[in-house]
Amino acid sequence: MRSLRSRPVEALPLDALAIKRDFPILERRIHGHPLIYLDNAATSQKPRSVVEALDEYYLHSNANVHRGIYTLSGEATDLYEDARTTVARFIGAAESAEIVFTRGATEAINLVACAWGGVNLGPGDAVLVTEMEHHSNIVPWQLQAERRGCEVRFIPLTDDGRLDLTRLDDLLDESVKLVSFVHVSNALGTVNPVPQLVAAARSVGARVLIDAAQSVPHRPIDVQELGADFLVFSGHKMCGPTGIGALWARREILEATPPYHGGGEMIRTVSLNGSTWADVPAKFEAGTPPIAQAVGLAEAIRYLSGVGMDRVLAHEQDLVAYALPRVADVPGVTIHGPLEDRSASVTFTMDGIHPHDLASILDSRGIAIRAGHHCAMPVHMRFGLSATARASVYLYNTRDDIDALVDGLLYARDLFGLP
Ligand code: PMP
Repeated sequence: MRSLRSRPVEALPLDALAIKRDFPILERRIHGHPLIYLDNAATSQKPRSVVEALDEYYLHSNANVHRGIYTLSGEATDLYEDARTTVARFIGAAESAEIVFTRGATEAINLVACAWGGVNLGPGDAVLVTEMEHHSNIVPWQLQAERRGCEVRFIPLTDDGRLDLTRLDDLLDESVKLVSFVHVSNALGTVNPVPQLVAAARSVGARVLIDAAQSVPHRPIDVQELGADFLVFSGHKMCGPTGIGALWARREILEATPPYHGGGEMIRTVSLNGSTWADVPAKFEAGTPPIAQAVGLAEAIRYLSGVGMDRVLAHEQDLVAYALPRVADVPGVTIHGPLEDRSASVTFTMDGIHPHDLASILDSRGIAIRAGHHCAMPVHMRFGLSATARASVYLYNTRDDIDALVDGLLYARDLFGLP
């Protein structure tokens, strides 16, 4: 399939100010200040073209898919299936049938845990995850462990927030049926060594799932190169609508996996005695799918591809390299996670001010950051923290946004009477 991942790397830096103008929400003022949105790891903002694609779909092409013989239904079906092809090209899938639309990364992991896990995990088996997972890559496996009698093991972390791979030999044996790990940590910004983890999993015959919720939006991704069996991500973190994401898996694995949900769309025949299933990927898409959301996601991918994912990555790396020393220089600040090779976020705490207070004070200046455990409580426990503050950037953020963040942090110290 022709790639939609990126423009050629002639790579002029992207023009973040021009990009900002494509996102109407970024013109808002909050408490009298221009909005500076630095919570992109939670969700991204949407460019006008994505909102217009949703409008256009609902105003002119709305119908249910795969059902009607009439023109509108045919149009909606084409749009939905074209969106699948767009997603497949964006991540280098061999064919669009390898893309299952889900509500997001969470539902995609639950699908693998229940449907694949239902026939591949049992007593004596283990799933190996890491201590830096988002809860959505821990809890579904814990639920399976309760139901199926298997075990969940965790790769521990080093003090600088990387995976402690010296422990792999102890943790990996033939009982491990799946190694499931986050590509880029939403809590620490760590970028995990995919080739090493895939090779380790293969050495014991385990399958591999990559949680790419924080990587697909921010860097070129090619599932063939990564070499995993499953990869999941969410549309809303990559300029697309909420309520849509995808599971990629190789066709033979999808074919060998039983359905997740039952209902309309996923069947071939239904009788009172039993049912047979549609081909992949329809087998995994019971009920009316998120049609408008798929159309919006395809538009988001066109938008990102128009900018170029290599340029998005380079821009974010520049911003984080600019931000890290400046945030670290604010008195009382500790940065959490690796200081090098980190992704688009800066996670930190400040002596004397709780992250929630910090986020409220920044909000009073129009700056949106995240404070809390970021759905990664085990990471926080590992470092003896109850909460951290996180500023995460995207293609529309600028160095001025980082300067405003740093000024805001100094202002918070003033307000608390801290030196
Ligand atoms: N994994 C990671 C690393 C994430 O950052 C998130 C979202 N914060 C998820 C999974 C879950 O994504 P969603 O809530 O969109 O399903």
